[in-house]
Amino acid sequence: MKGIYFKEPHNIEFKTDLSKPELKPDEVLVKVKYCGICGSDIESYETGALMLTGIILGHEFSGDVIEVGDKVKKIKIGTRVTANPNLPCGKCYWCIHDQENMCKDSYGLGLTHNGALAEYIKVKEDRLHKLPDNISYEEGAMVEPLAVATYAVQESGIKLGENAVVIGAGTIGLLTIQVLNAAGAGKIIVIEPVESKQKKALEVGADVVLNPKNWSKISKFTKKIGADHVFDCVAIPQTINNTMKIVKKGGHITFIGIHVEPFQVEGFLQLLLKNISIRGVFSYTNDTFTDTITLLEKRKINVKPLITKIIKLEEVPEMFKILSQLEHEEIKVLTKIQ
Ligand SMILES: [Zn+2]
Ligand SMILES: [Zn+2]
Repeated sequence: MKGIYFKEPHNIEFKTDLSKPELKPDEVLVKVKYCGICGSDIESYETGALMLTGIILGHEFSGDVIEVGDKVKKIKIGTRVTANPNLPCGKCYWCIHDQENMCKDSYGLGLTHNGALAEYIKVKEDRLHKLPDNISYEEGAMVEPLAVATYAVQESGIKLGENAVVIGAGTIGLLTIQVLNAAGAGKIIVIEPVESKQKKALEVGADVVLNPKNWSKISKFTKKIGADHVFDCVAIPQTINNTMKIVKKGGHITFIGIHVEPFQVEGFLQLLLKNISIRGVFSYTNDTFTDTITLLEKRKINVKPLITKIIKLEEVPEMFKILSQLEHEEIKVLTKIQ
């Protein structure tokens, strides 16, 4: 079988001799149609921080069920599917309270287990989600990143008409803008330095786009009160520190972007004086995954403008090099597998 093998940081290989997965009774075999390349794949490629080496990468995918294990009850051969790639333990405190993204013992497809940048992937039945007829395979591969944005907006508690600042117009930022609109947010202000991504933000429903050089202008667009909600999809020290400056007194900050290294926090006192609520969000629950498919099915979200390139499996190693450069114009790169 063909697939993308994560050998070590800065070294992934296109292989043609990988073994086809063998099913356990509760698993199904999916013939992969499309698989996206995620920021977290690139982060691991560069630092080795998130994914295990020695696995097939890829966790954002769609495909057809072509084989089912003996104990599989609900999924039939031929079903068009995507999957929640999280593999929680199902037994811990968080799992039994439908907070599987906080599972104390979680694994993941394309993270600790073989993923979908390959011709076939095996998936446990309970991780599969059927794709409605009006969702294409390309869109199906976008459900996973969209679930991240959906969960962030759900957890932020934003109310009808409240304004929001979204920092970063990459995949997650552009999806967050759209979910905010679906949730009835008021004015949406986006901070983004790259011109092509600024245009994309307006195309998908942002009201105002500002270059990071113009942080101070946010005040003008929020009636000099500050933002009701801030969503930081970038999470570098500068953006993290700025969130506390631009949020209103009593406002909310939601961190979606990942930041690993220690850094200096500025203006901690503001957090108290302004009564700011801060929360981090990670991944999503299985219920959110279902909600996300409904949003797509009802055409509340348009993921198509985010797909900037479709490549072949053998082109993936070269694309990882491009995507790990600081300045590139790609948003979501999908791999068409078959
Ligand atoms: Zn992802
Ligand atoms: Zn658990």
